[in-house]
Amino acid sequence: MTARLDATHGADLTSWVASANGHPDFPIQNLPLGIVSAGNGERRPGVAIGDSILDLAGLAAAGLLPGEAGRFVEAGASGTLNAALALGGGPRLALRARLSELLREGTGERPAVEPHLHDAESCVLHLPAAIGDYTDFYAGIHHATNVGKQFRPDNPLLPNYKWVPIGYHGRASSVIPSGVPVRRPSGQRKPAAEAVPAFGPSRNLDYELELAIWIGTGNAQGEPVPIGSAAEHIAGYGLLNDWSARDIQAWEYQPLGPFLAKSFASTVSPWIVTPEALAPFRLPQPARPDGDPQPLPYLRDEADQREGALAIELEVLLQTPLLREKGLSPHRLGLSDARHMYWTMAQFVAHHTSGGCNLRPGDLLGTGTISAPDLAGAGSLLEASQGGREPIRLPSGEERRFLEDGDEVILRARCRREGFAPIGFGECRATILPAAVP
Ligand code: CA
Repeated sequence: MTARLDATHGADLTSWVASANGHPDFPIQNLPLGIVSAGNGERRPGVAIGDSILDLAGLAAAGLLPGEAGRFVEAGASGTLNAALALGGGPRLALRARLSELLREGTGERPAVEPHLHDAESCVLHLPAAIGDYTDFYAGIHHATNVGKQFRPDNPLLPNYKWVPIGYHGRASSVIPSGVPVRRPSGQRKPAAEAVPAFGPSRNLDYELELAIWIGTGNAQGEPVPIGSAAEHIAGYGLLNDWSARDIQAWEYQPLGPFLAKSFASTVSPWIVTPEALAPFRLPQPARPDGDPQPLPYLRDEADQREGALAIELEVLLQTPLLREKGLSPHRLGLSDARHMYWTMAQFVAHHTSGGCNLRPGDLLGTGTISAPDLAGAGSLLEASQGGREPIRLPSGEERRFLEDGDEVILRARCRREGFAPIGFGECRATILPAAVP
């Protein structure tokens, strides 16, 4: 069921695309998939290799992607990857194997491939799929605990947390790719000291450091996906910033959960990092502490418990106009890891479909904010500034409790393991624009 190690993972594998060798995100061992326009050209499937992007439609037209590998690219010819993701793991694996051959140092096919290579700087990266539905989970147990503590110091986690993968339905229409600026939302906010709410720009704008999960093959309505085959429905992963207006959220969230505090924008990284690329970085799901319940049978699978977690280092950085002006690098606000999830990705899929809901190719799931146990690993400002009480001091001399206009938030992710080439996810970044004048 789970992706296996093969020749494409060899640590000594190098590419004739020189920038790929030692590239922090996109060495030949990664090969993430996306939708790209070169210059003003049409949207086509592409793969990141070093500082370049390979046009897969061009390769296919040149006859370089026969069989199953070509099927994947053909299905993406419409300018979204939905139909390609729907094909499941076979064509994706075939494409990966073929691309690894074509990009390898020493291949005789370099002259045929090279004309289809573009400088990444000259390309526009789009959403990889037309997202029909977006669901956000809440699996980062330290985030859930830290946020819960602000409301219930003695009993931060609600009684359902360790039984049910908590989630809610997000808004798909406002999911945007990395690089598109985000406008500060306005809404109703009611500070505790005020008797009635007022409408205006959010004063407590925050980010959330999450992983994105792209659904591949879907399921029919009324036909749940068993936990044992749930991982096969995941086509890949990315980074997700679930922007959150905490003041609007605090007033509107009861009793039905987040609404306008989160629906104004969610930013995803444009590259789909495949389960195949992540095969070396699988881990056992961390053992639950003594006294915690075991997952109910519909969420428990031996193979998933043995290798259903991922070692992915997650980082969030802040760039302000003043930091940039002073020539200072973006300031790290948090360093966390995907290991801090209480539920596996397969458990999300099994739980989501367990009631009969149908997932469709290109649907997006968020993991929920993934924070480490310590403050240096906070995945949101709500945690890092402890509800806005403790400002974060930046090397520019500035302070932040929440985000200001002009601030840019950058998410990054990296996988490392002894004996394997490290790979990354590319960036998920966006700058905050001032609120629209009502
Ligand atoms: Ca979230």
